[in-house]
Amino acid sequence: MRDLLGRPLRNLRLSVTDRCNLRCQYCMPEDDYVWLPREDVLHFEETSALVDIFLSLGVDKIRLTGGEPLLRRDLASLVAMIAAKTGLKDLALTTNGVLLEEQIEGLKTAGLRRITVSLDTLDRARFKALTRFDQLDAVHAGIAAARRVFGALKIDTVVIRGVNDDEIGPLVEYGRRANAEVRFIEYMDVGGASRWSPARVFSRQEILDAVARCYGAVTAIEEPGSTAPAERFALPDGTTFGIIASTTDPFCRTCDRSRLTADGMWYLCLYATHGVDLRGPLRRGATADELKTIVAAGWRGRADRGAEERLALGERRAFVPVQDLLRKDPHLEMHTRGG
Ligand code: SAM
Repeated sequence: MRDLLGRPLRNLRLSVTDRCNLRCQYCMPEDDYVWLPREDVLHFEETSALVDIFLSLGVDKIRLTGGEPLLRRDLASLVAMIAAKTGLKDLALTTNGVLLEEQIEGLKTAGLRRITVSLDTLDRARFKALTRFDQLDAVHAGIAAARRVFGALKIDTVVIRGVNDDEIGPLVEYGRRANAEVRFIEYMDVGGASRWSPARVFSRQEILDAVARCYGAVTAIEEPGSTAPAERFALPDGTTFGIIASTTDPFCRTCDRSRLTADGMWYLCLYATHGVDLRGPLRRGATADELKTIVAAGWRGRADRGAEERLALGERRAFVPVQDLLRKDPHLEMHTRGG
């Protein structure tokens, strides 16, 4: 099934909660938030039923995210339900790592295949300033546990000028020791990033220059046909890393991902202002065929190129500059939509 720009429906990011146990300044910088009503949050059986619809229409890769997905009680049960489905090629999780050490065995046993841990700094004081919590040791323990249980992992780092752009070299080295491929992400002006400004974006080229200064020549790894958002590079000793340049060089043309929020709203683009309500029809008793019709119509009519449109604006500010708007519709927040 293809959208209006010929892009297939393949990747589903499943947000299992809008709650988070960190307050990263690029994602949740405010003092208070409007949370999704508890009764709206899908039960695992409901999520599983929607996952079946997506799998039947072409999705074969699912990533659990949030909010912080490990805050969702008994997440391993949901992992087990999804992992058992036929047609699924990949089941991954993105986490801040704080609760990972205690949950990792259960997640692996339940059928989780891959883990990405978000880590932006190796400096304890900086971690606390960036996230408002003194949890760097817990994240290190989570990463060590992921290495032990899964063998390898990925680490995602948002690079912000003046905050952590001096840690690119050390993070590559940290990744090498942890058997983790580090992916540097450009700071994006998504909903929730109310402190974003163009001056704070440390670009793909600047990241490449910083790595080259530390480690010498960087070689691009050719991956023909790949629709992954990260471009991958290799260092002279074979160490690899990635860059996700969503801000200066968006990948909308090949974007095959969509997002389902914890309360069953389906978003076709990170920058979309409206989503498709799947919880309503599901709870009113819609049949699988009726739900398939809704999803198929949504994807076939998709023309979103949100990040490219933001780039074309030239003069840019935060996507949702007015905090009132975020309060009126928390679905505009990255932590609700599922990063
Ligand atoms: N809590 C989990 C975590 O920390 O990985 C999952 C949700 S979090 C929203 C997913 C990813 O989105 C994280 O890697 C985070 O760094 C990234 N993210 C959040 N806000 C961002 C922004 N303004 N620009 C770029 N990446 C962002």
